Amino acid sequence: MLFSLIVPCYNEEGGVVPLFEAIHSTFGGQDFDYEIVFVNDGSTDGTLRSLRQLAAENPGVARAISFSRNFGKESALLAGLKHAKGDILCFIDADLQHPPETALEMLNKLRADEDLSCVCAIQTERSESRLTRLFKNGFYRLINALSDVNFVSGASDFRVFRRQIADALLSMTEYYRFSKGLFSWVGFKTEYYPYRATPRHSGETKWSFVGLLRYAIDGIFSFTAVPLRVAMFAGLVTSLLSVVYLLVVVVQKLFFSIDVPGYATIVTLILFFGGAQLFFIGIVGEYLARVFTQTKHRPPYIIQETINIQAEGEEA
Ligand code: UDP
Ligand code: MG
Repeated sequence: MLFSLIVPCYNEEGGVVPLFEAIHSTFGGQDFDYEIVFVNDGSTDGTLRSLRQLAAENPGVARAISFSRNFGKESALLAGLKHAKGDILCFIDADLQHPPETALEMLNKLRADEDLSCVCAIQTERSESRLTRLFKNGFYRLINALSDVNFVSGASDFRVFRRQIADALLSMTEYYRFSKGLFSWVGFKTEYYPYRATPRHSGETKWSFVGLLRYAIDGIFSFTAVPLRVAMFAGLVTSLLSVVYLLVVVVQKLFFSIDVPGYATIVTLILFFGGAQLFFIGIVGEYLARVFTQTKHRPPYIIQETINIQAEGEEA
């Protein structure tokens, strides 16, 4: 059995060597082989240098792929998946927030149950601001209400899964990749494994609030078309209401001779519906932009350099 650990790295020069050592001491003495596929996601610090050195010193274990620029964690995970050879694979962060011992426990859990295809680490306690928590809970409630795919709150990208799932993920060629959703979408029996994320080893988080917000919006637009239908529904309801209002006005005029002064009403209604129409056009535009990006068929990443990795089709 070969176990592949896939590590996305963006400006993690302080983290990759300690992570390698932690992985080595955890998986070194086990009854199976392991490999580590580092993906350097366009780091601007010394990450690539550290990776080159690690790969040179540990040719059988450490491999690396380096992108030409920063393409984002999802692209890094995809590249790792494509190049990892393991029967069982694992996504693990480079900052030591995902302890390798936990990965081993998850692996053992997976190996103990043949029917199980994925073990996903789920964060029980999170040290984050109130605002972030509020926002995250709101996001999960919204996306679960809108989408057929089930999103589990707190489920992380820290996962151990079988080759079957890796192949299923690779068969999905969408440009906007939202891992949490892709994993639920492909199915297979998944169990959640509670863990506590340790503090970052070094460097700082790459996620700003705005970054998270954009990621959340991507998730929603990638996994549901419901917002498109909301416009239709809203249009239908307001049309019906306007007919009712028309009848009221006619009755008032004909039977009670009430003149309906309308300036304020008209201005308010014009502004309201003008805004509502632009809002829905914006939603349509979001989907259209995604279709546009997807149809360009640009690759999700560009590889500048591979270390200890055979190019596709090359024999070992
Ligand atoms: N990462 C990446 N590309 C990016 C941003 C992050 O490969 O554009 C990697 C990063 O190096 C780390 C992992 O993704 O290994 C998680 O990032 P981070 O620790 O910043 O996120 P957090 O743990 O705060 O959610
Ligand atoms: Mg982290």
